[in-house]
Amino acid sequence: MMLGYLLARAGVRVTVLEKHADFLRDFRGDTIHPSTLRIMERLGLLDGLLAIPHQEVRTIDAQWEDRDLPIGDFSGVPTTTKFIALMPQWDFLDYLAKSGRAYPNFDLRMRHEAVDLVRGRDGASDAHVTGVKVRGPDGEYEIAARLVVACDGRHSRMRAASRLEVENLGAPMDVVWFKFPSDDSDGRPPLGRFTRGAIFVMIPRGEHWQCGYVIPKGMLESLKTGGFDAFRRAIASAMSPKLRNVDARLQTLRDWSDVSLLSVTVDRLRQWSLDGFLCIGDAAHAMSPVGGIGINLAIQDAVATSNLLRRILLTRRPTPAELRRVQDRRLFPTRVTQAGQVLVQERVVSLALKATDAFEPPLAMRVISRFRFLRQLVARVLGMGVRPEVPDPD
Ligand SMILES: Cc1cc2nc3c(=O)[nH]c(=O)nc-3n(C[C@H](O)[C@H](O)[C@H](O)COP(=O)(O)OP(=O)(O)OC[C@H]3O[C@@H](n4cnc5c(N)ncnc54)[C@H](O)[C@@H]3O)c2cc1C
Repeated sequence: MMLGYLLARAGVRVTVLEKHADFLRDFRGDTIHPSTLRIMERLGLLDGLLAIPHQEVRTIDAQWEDRDLPIGDFSGVPTTTKFIALMPQWDFLDYLAKSGRAYPNFDLRMRHEAVDLVRGRDGASDAHVTGVKVRGPDGEYEIAARLVVACDGRHSRMRAASRLEVENLGAPMDVVWFKFPSDDSDGRPPLGRFTRGAIFVMIPRGEHWQCGYVIPKGMLESLKTGGFDAFRRAIASAMSPKLRNVDARLQTLRDWSDVSLLSVTVDRLRQWSLDGFLCIGDAAHAMSPVGGIGINLAIQDAVATSNLLRRILLTRRPTPAELRRVQDRRLFPTRVTQAGQVLVQERVVSLALKATDAFEPPLAMRVISRFRFLRQLVARVLGMGVRPEVPDPD
């Protein structure tokens, strides 16, 4: 959506395909980091965005068993917005879609699914991607394009169709998401609580909390054999002990249909493009939820793609070498970010998930929690990322 908006703004004719009828899917991650807020500011879209109901997270507070561990402080990030905005992703996407529709050359087609790549038409060789095959409400059709960009997420059908090679980096956990009604007595529980065998995440959504119960990979099946009551009890013991009326509120979860499993993968394409075809975002590199940075990395990819290709796209097809420049620019930040995520998965997440007895937080977390400048450094790395992109002036 971001790339579609940027290209349309530059005058390129762009079609954005979305297979669903709306963006109203839960549990997609709600974080908009300072680097993305800065992009919105440069585009003149920040005030409109912040007029949409959202929460502002200025510090990151974790809890290790019952010990409070502040680990991030956004007061020092080099942007005007010194916070992470938490906003349901559909509100953010609706806002971008509305902003895109201001341009007559922006064509957003909801309920239109990309089903295959079209290769070698109009005299092009078979190795050239020349368009995309689409299934819409009125049947199948093809769109010819100078460039097809796969930004269809972790299970990208277009990346599978391209047969580009994927390198799997592994993830030790899955996340079970559900809604938990909020209560006046809740105050500000920790964003993440590390307990023996699980990690519990609570994201404010006004009248309810969006909760993530992080469990060892593949464990949901064995939880299911224990029954839903045992699952409710396991969640209750992972939640902050300061929360009141937990049992009554957990009764709002009736059965397994009220929870969703998100299987975590971390992977990366060895090569992101073919002639006429490019992958960005999770389609090029699926991100772990660690740090909540996947959305922001996908947006950085979109900005870099627009900066590198929009002038070319106004007049002609980009050459394979020009498409490779996107990977050249974005591979380093992707590698560093994924390496950081894998490190946290191995050293922090796995430590909690494997623990059966009382356990100490890792030394690095203890040190960070003691010094404000280190908490500001963590927030800066999280909030800005590696090689943050800004849109070139129009
Ligand atoms: C459990 C979990 C929690 C996470 N939490 C966070 C978080 O809090 N913050 C964060 O920044 N990141 C988070 N992430 C990572 C984040 O979700 C991704 O990195 C990010 O969404 C990638 O954006 P994207 O645009 O590449 O893909 P997506 O957000 O997956 O978007 C792909 C879009 O393409 C559509 N689509 C799919 N196939 C087709 C098709 N064939 N034709 C047409 N449309 C199609 C989909 O409907 C979807 O709208 C989390 C990941 C996991 C697994």
